[in-house]
Amino acid sequence: MADKLNRVTGADSLRKFFDSPYMGAYSINDGAEPIVTISDVMQGKITLEGGRKEDHVLLYFAEKSVQGMSEVKPLVLNATNQKTLEKLYGKGADVLRGKMVKFYVDPAVRAIGGGTTEGVRIRPTVPRVAATGPTKCTVCEKEITAAGNMNAAQIVEYSRRRFGGEMCADCMRKAQEQAEAAKVEEESGRKGDVENAPKPESGAES
Ligand SMILES: [Zn+2]
Repeated sequence: MADKLNRVTGADSLRKFFDSPYMGAYSINDGAEPIVTISDVMQGKITLEGGRKEDHVLLYFAEKSVQGMSEVKPLVLNATNQKTLEKLYGKGADVLRGKMVKFYVDPAVRAIGGGTTEGVRIRPTVPRVAATGPTKCTVCEKEITAAGNMNAAQIVEYSRRRFGGEMCADCMRKAQEQAEAAKVEEESGRKGDVENAPKPESGAES
């Protein structure tokens, strides 16, 4: 039987189908300088191209997708970016969680085994987030404050991207729950008579 294949369309670089689990220069659109928020710092053995295993420190990010980077993958931290981070935010892992970094592509970083290649670099400046004072949630009208590992400005940014307006973390969570509940209802409605469909028992959800 033939393998099941998907037709490829669009203008994005085909490099994205090489499917590395880690961020690379290929992750960043031409000329873009995407900004992301560090959510975690991990360390361990990772499998490199060709199957080689090496110990590395990895940065994980809060965003799944940002302008200039359609899929935000973990970054394998190299010495250059590690030095930049230390200058920006200080030593250690704890100072990094919740901090923002701006990436760019350096077209000529030293390649393993000689020569040069393109690589992901962190800009040596703290990304500017709009500091326009407190922003009110468009749903509950309370001031949007920091939550989880995101500061207020990041939550404002995130809610605009995700819901198209400024929302606090609580209201975003509620909106998400409602969207999920509506989806469940829609699915159960499709199976039979909507009016007489039995309501899911409370406590039945995972
Ligand atoms: Zn709210």
